[in-house]
Amino acid sequence: MSTKATKTPSRFGYASGLACRECGQACDLGAQSACAECFGPLEVSYDLPPLTRASIEAGPQTIWRYASLLPVPPDIAATPNTEPGCTRLVRADNLARALGMRALWVKDERGNPTHSFKDRVVAVALAAAVEMGFTVLACPSTGNLANAVAAAAARAGIRSIVLVPADLEQQKILGTAIYGGTLVTVDGSYDDVNRLACELADEHEDWAFVNVNVRPYYAEGSKTIGYEIAEQLGWRLPEQVVVPVA
Ligand SMILES: [Zn+2]
Repeated sequence: MSTKATKTPSRFGYASGLACRECGQACDLGAQSACAECFGPLEVSYDLPPLTRASIEAGPQTIWRYASLLPVPPDIAATPNTEPGCTRLVRADNLARALGMRALWVKDERGNPTHSFKDRVVAVALAAAVEMGFTVLACPSTGNLANAVAAAAARAGIRSIVLVPADLEQQKILGTAIYGGTLVTVDGSYDDVNRLACELADEHEDWAFVNVNVRPYYAEGSKTIGYEIAEQLGWRLPEQVVVPVA
């Protein structure tokens, strides 16, 4: 993994560093996704200020209403309202009845810029990547992530490079082509594409692969869906959350 000098920590909001989920080893905020000691995954740690529901509710109708809980610049909430998040939480009474449940909600992620959950993780990865001085946003993908990266890069006015397996269904990446950027098809499986991405991330110091060298920041975007569900239920937690995955 390449290492890169970070700017002042305050540019990452209240994030205070990275820590290994396996062995707890701490390191500075930077473009690094694996622990130098044990190769475990690194996660962002925080030194959070007191937060109130009112301060969150006063924020924009995007994921940046939770900016204080993310590794992003403090002024990010002022960005135009083309960002992901605040998707509808739909009460699905008919489905609940069919399944014999008291109440059921569906989180409708089609409301995000490229109509998938991936817009959340990419937005946080992009914000952190720009702070670290990267000038290209990249990813290996099998579809949704490719679209999210191409769109977010276009919105931010920076280059994107997306690597996909050559046998991917064209419909999945039509959006990527529309948003511009460079789309590279690779003869091989997704594992091969991922391996190539890791090598390219080492070679090109200005390429941020959202799910490779800036993965800890990318992963932080996921939790915004949980915050939204709690807030939309009146700051109550559901008994169960069911997550469909490909
Ligand atoms: Zn470790």
